[in-house]
Parts: sequence; structure tokens; C-alpha cells
Amino acid sequence: MKKIAIIGAGLSGLYAASFLQKNYHITVFEARDRLGGRVHTVDGFDMGPSWVWGHHRRILTLIRALGLQLFTQYDSGLALYETPQKIEAFQPSPTLPAGRIRGGVRSLIDALASTLDSVTIRIGEAVEKLHDATDHIELYTSQGEYRFDLVISTLPPRLAAETLDYDPPLPHDISESFKNTPTWMGHSAKCVIEFNEPFWRPLGLSGFCFSHSGPMGEIHDACTPDRYALFGFINAHADMEHIETDCIRQLRRLFGDAATDVLSFHCVDWRKERYSATMADGTPRSAHPDYGIEASCFGNKLLFIGTETSYDEGGYLEGALASCERLDRFLRCEEAIDGR
Ligand SMILES: Cc1cc2nc3c(=O)[nH]c(=O)nc-3n(C[C@H](O)[C@H](O)[C@H](O)COP(=O)(O)OP(=O)(O)OC[C@H]3O[C@@H](n4cnc5c(N)ncnc54)[C@H](O)[C@@H]3O)c2cc1C
Repeated sequence: MKKIAIIGAGLSGLYAASFLQKNYHITVFEARDRLGGRVHTVDGFDMGPSWVWGHHRRILTLIRALGLQLFTQYDSGLALYETPQKIEAFQPSPTLPAGRIRGGVRSLIDALASTLDSVTIRIGEAVEKLHDATDHIELYTSQGEYRFDLVISTLPPRLAAETLDYDPPLPHDISESFKNTPTWMGHSAKCVIEFNEPFWRPLGLSGFCFSHSGPMGEIHDACTPDRYALFGFINAHADMEHIETDCIRQLRRLFGDAATDVLSFHCVDWRKERYSATMADGTPRSAHPDYGIEASCFGNKLLFIGTETSYDEGGYLEGALASCERLDRFLRCEEAIDGR
């Protein structure tokens, strides 16, 4: 059996490992000391992705296949619009209903990882360098040196270009296009504030708010089936040193004194996560980038997948799965050439 290394144990890496394990010896290298990458559920609350939508058929199929349950994002009632001068309630135009995974998106990662019977996962081992040794690839990590027939990177393209060493170097066009591909949500910081009661709901409010005053620019209901919370995306220029106090002050302005009765506060600043974003990702984005890159090098022994490489729903969980389909096509082709 051929030996394949997968760099990154986010959704792309684990999903790729799940369908390659039957025909290949798979080793997954993960730099962090946890699985999931941008999927990060802390104390039951999603600090990374939380929503799936009805048109994301791959992720919905996977959720069903793994026996996980969805519940609907709460969005009944009026939304709020905040400026430094005023706070106004309004009826937002209908959007696509979003679903959330019971137990958080981490449940998806855990369930997927539990299917990887014959895969070796090396957690806390960052890949540093790849060398094309003609008939194989030498892979160097923080802890050792390995030899593989094929290497699949699932890193966000910017990270793949800026944090790994390649010998020989990546072709110029690939390196440039990777550097110009923003990491989806790499500019964001997300906080979750937990309460005893969903006090906004009896007020006829959905919890959804747009704010020009901050520190949270966008707020949503983040209740789980048995806990009550709001989450917010933090504005780019917010004072992160006082973020908890400032967020609670903002929620008090919007929803009243009940918002000061906080049970827990969590915040993840994705701009500071060295295994997700680079300095270049710090600039906020006004629109969803046009994603999609098909790239391989080292004589097709080094392939690049991951959500940002997908032409279909790139940036989203759905795009992570879609990027793996390309891999499936590529390996079938290789097998045909090998005469397998
Ligand atoms: C705040 C936030 C909110 C989001 N909301 C949504 C949402 O509601 N719905 C949705 O569909 N999507 C959402 N997304 C996007 C979603 O999280 C991503 O599409 C998806 O998780 C990408 O998976 P991936 O495996 O392609 O990449 P990643 O999850 O980034 O995986 C890459 C992996 O590589 C690892 N790695 C990095 N460098 C190295 C190295 N040198 N060696 C070894 N391993 C390394 C990383 O630790 C990581 O585990 C959100 C993201 C964020 C941050």
C-alpha cells in the first residue's frame, strides 16, 4: 500500500483520511494539540463555525451518516440596529434558515475521527519542510523526519505558502496565488456570552443585532438546546484587552440590565491563531472571496486541498468536503495509471 501523509486534522484532513484509509497507509500530522482546526467548540459553544445551510448537501449528508442531530438557529422576532446615536428595532428580510449541530460542530469532528480505525494521527506535530526526493517526499516535522509516496496539504493556502519550506521551492505562480488567497474568517474574533435566561426572547427580539458602536459588529442567538447564550463577531479595532467588559456593556445597552448577569464568557481571536491565519489575514473583508485553486507540484506527489481551494462553497464546511472530491478523482487517475 502507498504511504500518504495528510497535513492538518481539520474537517478537510479528517474527511480525506476517512475515505482514503481503505486503500492507503495514512498518517495525519496536526500542529495543534487538538483536532478540528477552525472547528473549535469550547465548553459546548462553537467559537469557529456554527451554521450549516440546506443547500450544503455534502455536509448535511455527512452529519446524517454520522448519526448527528441538527436543531434550527433561533431567529424569531425583531433584530436591533445600533449606531452611536440610537438603537432601532427592525424586521430583517428573511434569510436562508441555518441549522446547528447538537453538541457543537466539534461533535462532527469527534464522530469523523472515531471512524479512522487504521489512520495514524500525530497531534501536536507541526510539519515544517517538504523535500521532493523524486520517487518519494521527505517530510520534516517539529519531531522527526518521514518518507511518503504522496503528501496532501489541507492548510489554508496562505499558510501553505508562508509557513512551510519547500525544496525545491513552490512554483512562483502557485506561491503567488496562495499568498493572495485570504483565509476565510482569518480576520475574525468571536465571543460567546452565556446567561441563566434567554432574556431577549420574551422581549420579542431574536438576539440578532448589527452595530456600528461595537465592540461586537454582529450578534446572534447562540443558545443550545439546554443553555442560553449570545455570540458576537468582534470589530477589527476593538480593544481586546477589555473585551469582556466592553461586550457586556454593549449587551446592556441593547437588551437591558439582564445582560450583566453573565454565567461565562469565551473569546477566540482567530487573527492570533498561528495555525489558521497569517499577518495578511488581519484585514477585514467586505465580501466573500472568489475561492478555488487547483494546485499540485513535486511531480504530482504533493497535492493541495482545504476549503479555500474549492470552487464550490469555498470557505465553508461544505467547501472543505468539496475540496476532497478532487482528491478522489486524482487518486483514481493515479491508480488507473499504476494499473491497480
Ligand atoms: C469564526 C469562524 C466562523 C465560521 N463560521 C462558519 C459557519 O457558520 N459555517 C461554515 O460552513 N463555515 C464557517 N467557518 C469556516 C469553517 O470553519 C471552515 O470552512 C472549515 O473549518 C475549514 O476546514 P479545513 O480543514 O479546510 O481547514 P482548517 O480547519 O483550517 O484545517 C487546517 C488544519 O491544519 C493544521 N495546521 C496548520 N499548520 C500546520 C502545520 N504546519 N503542520 C500540521 N498541521 C497544521 C491546523 O491546525 C488545522 O487543524 C467559520 C470559521 C471561523 C473561524
